[in-house]
Amino acid sequence: MSLSYSIKVYKQYFNFACSHFMIFEDGSREPLHGHNYRVKVKGDALELSSDMVFDFLDIKPVVREICDSLDHKLLIPKLNSKLKIFEEEKNFRIICPDESEFSIPKQDILLLPIENTSSERIAIYLNQKIRENTLQKFGYKFAQLEVEVEETPGQSAIYIHKEEPA
Ligand code: ZN
Repeated sequence: MSLSYSIKVYKQYFNFACSHFMIFEDGSREPLHGHNYRVKVKGDALELSSDMVFDFLDIKPVVREICDSLDHKLLIPKLNSKLKIFEEEKNFRIICPDESEFSIPKQDILLLPIENTSSERIAIYLNQKIRENTLQKFGYKFAQLEVEVEETPGQSAIYIHKEEPA
């Protein structure tokens, strides 16, 4: 079956400003730094429903809400086996493989269920959240969902999730 119909949303407000650092295979890490991430979303359908793939008015707040949840946070990949993350009363304490240590107020951190905070992994996380929320709020599944995360202008990662045919 071919994917004949698509919508694409990439509003100005699909953005989030975050700090992060990559952990590399050898245990070294990037210095803490930030990006103004931009997000583009493309959803496909096999056929139209009410002459639409999915209502723009419905998908836009879903994407916006997820972008906003990352905004102004330090993103920490909680599935990274090289990081040690300790929950304290008010802070998370994070010990890196190079033995550097961060202690950050809980409200300034977002622990993500990913292995590293590469744009590729962030795209996978956003893709999953958008699908979960669209299904939960509207009972709808795109036949295919593509999420593009632009880390800096002209440099982005894409993750495509294809729904298995029922
Ligand atoms: Zn970076």
